[in-house]
Amino acid sequence: MKKCSTGKRLYASEQLAEDSLIEAHIHFEYKAGAGPKGVYKCDECGSYHLTSHGAMNARLSQLLVDGTIQKQKEAGRWNDKFKKH
Ligand SMILES: [Zn+2]
Repeated sequence: MKKCSTGKRLYASEQLAEDSLIEAHIHFEYKAGAGPKGVYKCDECGSYHLTSHGAMNARLSQLLVDGTIQKQKEAGRWNDKFKKH
């Protein structure tokens, strides 16, 4: 697997990075304004990384606003006890 000097996880496409960004918000309880907010293409490795800086990703923002993230959290809660994060 490729590695990047940023030490961040690599995503092969913007789509995969976005999916992971959204999943992170479903699985973890971030305080307002905390946690990863967007994805960017890395100049160094050419892959995509998550970032907590800059503007919030449009897809993530919409899912937070329309309640989808919250619904997914509740839907997943019952099996959380089988997984340790
Ligand atoms: Zn990189």
